Amino acid sequence: MEGQVALITGGGRGIGKAIADLLAEKGVTIVLGDVNMEDAAGAVEDIEKKGVKALAVKLDVSNSEDVSAAFKSITDTFGRLDILVNNAGITKDSLLLRMKEDEWDRVLDINLKGVFLCSKEAVKIMSKQKYGRIVNISSVVAFTGNPGQINYSASKAGIIGLTKTIAKEYAKRGITTNAVAPGFIMTAMTDALPDKVKDEMKNTIPMGEFGSVEDVANAVAFLASPTSGYVTGNIIHVNGGMYM
Ligand code: NAP
Repeated sequence: MEGQVALITGGGRGIGKAIADLLAEKGVTIVLGDVNMEDAAGAVEDIEKKGVKALAVKLDVSNSEDVSAAFKSITDTFGRLDILVNNAGITKDSLLLRMKEDEWDRVLDINLKGVFLCSKEAVKIMSKQKYGRIVNISSVVAFTGNPGQINYSASKAGIIGLTKTIAKEYAKRGITTNAVAPGFIMTAMTDALPDKVKDEMKNTIPMGEFGSVEDVANAVAFLASPTSGYVTGNIIHVNGGMYM
């Protein structure tokens, strides 16, 4: 994978940063697209210490102008893009009757429209190269549903349909599109939950523990590599047996 270029959206921290670190260890040039440039700049510094090129670009995935500008700066700087990891995601939890329209819109805009906008730009570049790997980060709740997460679970379920459609449309251009559906993973997103909720969640996991960001990164790295070339339109579940 040496010499390849990857964009990881929301790569400044959490799962995205772990994916960036692992791909960097494989010699991949890393572009981190994030709204939070402070985190992204810190992550770039860490990656450069591994002797790998890295770049932080300001990117709000829900904003089409930002997305076009970010992809332009990638092709201007590196001339190619081999891997897109659509990782940026947010939650704004509430039960159906309490959920405000703007909470629904914001989550769908970032988690689902953002994947559409970034994939569209990536496919333009990857089609010309006749090679590309798109890996979308969904969630176990896309398959199980989750009370309080109607917007989030709908956005993550939408990613599954989008993934299979891009996979079918671009299979003949050497582009594979797959998704990773993490269960409960230890990050800032799960840290914020009360201990009681965390214990209840652990009781639903056959392995009895939350996963690590590295567990997710390992699955992404496989789907992002040339060795997964005959795998497309599929989902790898990384959830300790929570959903099978
Ligand atoms: P995280 O720690 O909150 O990191 C998300 C990153 O995305 C942050 O750097 C965030 O920036 C960035 N971001 C937010 N809005 C953005 C936007 N509009 N454009 C670009 N970047 C944006 O989350 P995480 O836990 O690592 O989750 C990463 C992905 O895995 C998400 O898609 C999430 O839904 C999914 N996932 C997580 C879990 C879990 O248990 N953690 C389980 C299943 C799926 P800020 O710092 O400014 O917020």
